[in-house]
Amino acid sequence: MSDAVLATKHGKLALIAPALATVGYRVRAVDVDTDTLGTFSGEVERQGPPRDVAVAKARLGMAVTGVGVGLASEGTVGPSPHVPFATADTELVVLVDDRRGLVVVGRHVSHELRVVGEDVAPGDPLDTLIERAGVGGADGHHLIVRPAAGARRPVVKEVGDVGALAEAVARCAAASDDGRARVETDLRAHRCPSRRPAIAAAAQDLATRLAASCPACGLPGWGPVRSVGGRPCADCGAPTDAPRADVEGCVACPEERERPRADAGPVDPARCGWCNP
Ligand SMILES: [Zn+2]
Ligand SMILES: [Zn+2]
Repeated sequence: MSDAVLATKHGKLALIAPALATVGYRVRAVDVDTDTLGTFSGEVERQGPPRDVAVAKARLGMAVTGVGVGLASEGTVGPSPHVPFATADTELVVLVDDRRGLVVVGRHVSHELRVVGEDVAPGDPLDTLIERAGVGGADGHHLIVRPAAGARRPVVKEVGDVGALAEAVARCAAASDDGRARVETDLRAHRCPSRRPAIAAAAQDLATRLAASCPACGLPGWGPVRSVGGRPCADCGAPTDAPRADVEGCVACPEERERPRADAGPVDPARCGWCNP
């Protein structure tokens, strides 16, 4: 087993360590203030693309402990590029191994995130919002409340029941230019149970990559890097954007190999630029 440190403030060790143990890493958490690199609650803007932020977090943990292998996770929540009106939760778990010059990224996209975001006035009924947000119970979701317009403060976090929500709405609405409060899901991992399986799945993807070695240089981290379009239209036979193969690649050297998908046959003409422009 080799030692690795996971930089986290929000209790992600139990989500990430089991998958990494299967590929020979003994992971311990190091409590570093990763919020300086950006927060979900929006008080600190994230600096750069999610992958770079995750790598920076991992390096923070390595610097604090002197351990040569670091891990960190980073999530991005936004409109799904593939499913209309759905929210996509893209979770990354990265491993940085400076002894071997490796950065390996595990990734998982989930549409299972339970997320709310709406403006509320004091006195509005809150029961349906609480219900939709999945707030309450032993492992419920939590909410973040802030002024809806103008003022950036106060920000009330970890709102976990209807009484606390009413109180937070009153405080934040009083500070807001429009007299309303913005209520959103608290997305921090330890307060957001529907995010946690996606983080564990990204850790599993990372473990799968670490278990696969590059056929050219032998370093771990081999895995899919992109897909290639070109499945033919069932009607006219023209190539479409639908993926016909995956390209697998190495994280350390330029080696890449194309692997045809099992399902690479003709696709519905609805996806064809000629038949259905
Ligand atoms: Zn066609
Ligand atoms: Zn290689």
